[in-house]
Amino acid sequence: MDSIFADFEEKILPGMTHWQHPRFFAYFPANAAPVSVVAEYLVSAMAAQCMLWQTSPSATELETRTVDWMRQALGLPQGFSGVIQDSASSATLAAVLTMRERALDWQGNSQGLAGQPRLRVYSSDQVHTSIDRAIWISGIGQENLVRISGQGRFRGMDTAELEAAIIADRAAGMLPAGIIGSVGGTSIGGTDNIADIAGVARRHGLYLHVDAAWAGSAMICPEYRHYWAGVEQADSIVFNPHKWLGAQFDCSIQFLRQPEDLVRTLAIKPEFLKTHGRDGVINYSEWSVPLGRRFRALKLWFLLRAHGLENLRAMIRAHVSWSEGLATRLAGEPDFEIVSQPMLSLFSFRHRPAADQDHDEHNLLLVNAINDDGRIYLTQTRVDGRVAIRFQVGQFETTSADTDTAFSVITEIARQIG
Ligand code: PLP
Repeated sequence: MDSIFADFEEKILPGMTHWQHPRFFAYFPANAAPVSVVAEYLVSAMAAQCMLWQTSPSATELETRTVDWMRQALGLPQGFSGVIQDSASSATLAAVLTMRERALDWQGNSQGLAGQPRLRVYSSDQVHTSIDRAIWISGIGQENLVRISGQGRFRGMDTAELEAAIIADRAAGMLPAGIIGSVGGTSIGGTDNIADIAGVARRHGLYLHVDAAWAGSAMICPEYRHYWAGVEQADSIVFNPHKWLGAQFDCSIQFLRQPEDLVRTLAIKPEFLKTHGRDGVINYSEWSVPLGRRFRALKLWFLLRAHGLENLRAMIRAHVSWSEGLATRLAGEPDFEIVSQPMLSLFSFRHRPAADQDHDEHNLLLVNAINDDGRIYLTQTRVDGRVAIRFQVGQFETTSADTDTAFSVITEIARQIG
């Protein structure tokens, strides 16, 4: 073990990107609160398979309990239940499979898609690529993911265009199956008007899945819930406690208004999985694509009990205010432009190059120079086809001094290369 550990320190650690560093401002956070890591040690040591109630009674019961705690913490109404999936990608896949089966009157799993009408699913162009992949894997096909143009500050779907597309598709013999809404998209925090698109979904009998993988954590603060107003009308909602909230990866909650639809899509019971005489208990493997499941609820239980919602709210509020503060400071600097205003703690900016330089090349050069410098870590995106630099505050250990450092590093390096 001594030599394995020595090699770990010498060969592995220096080659890692440090997601738990307080000056990690890239992507979205993948926080691992130490208390959730302790829970993971216990889970790893027990190494239980939490597929059936009988294979993991406490884990199953705790999953039901912690998911309900989170439902209350996020202000979702009673009646929503849920499951802990490994990732938002899996939750979205489960939701897309459900919307497919519901639209096909539960015939897709048995008969396949050949000979069926073309299924259609609708989203903005701000959704995460996990939506595209769920569409591929479910056999619906990329061409049937209909992109509705975005409007307003957060590029939410134009509801009139959404409704017109559904009507036209149906008239053309296609089969609209569902709508996927975004709250806090990865690029610039793209957010749909969930109340409006829920109205469209209801009028046309479509399944509505909402991806709030990152922004969902902030909904523990009542003052941010306007971002997803109307969410109680969704059929399925995913949010990742393994991002901002601090539950060590992986931990993604999928809330469901009517879990029977998901279970009807995914449940399969060969004899060896039957638990005779135990009808009525929850077997969470019937709610997810994988059969084998880790005990993910324990870290959520440890996290919520050790930190408490008020402390987690204070952290999120501080992150949002530091991000807004940095956006304001950068906007006041010559040659900096805010490309997308803060959505919670995420905004994007650009630096203006000298007159003869290409904007995109210059900003790519800038983000690479900042990352090569090594004091902070950022990533880029494209907004309306042009490069912008993303900035988000979300790491557990970040302080306002770290965002001050970010301001100095960004402006100093921009001056050097500009
Ligand atoms: N949705 C959004 C908005 C995301 O930002 C991400 C990842 O960053 C995902 C989905 C995918 O999350 P996961 O890695 O849990 O599949």
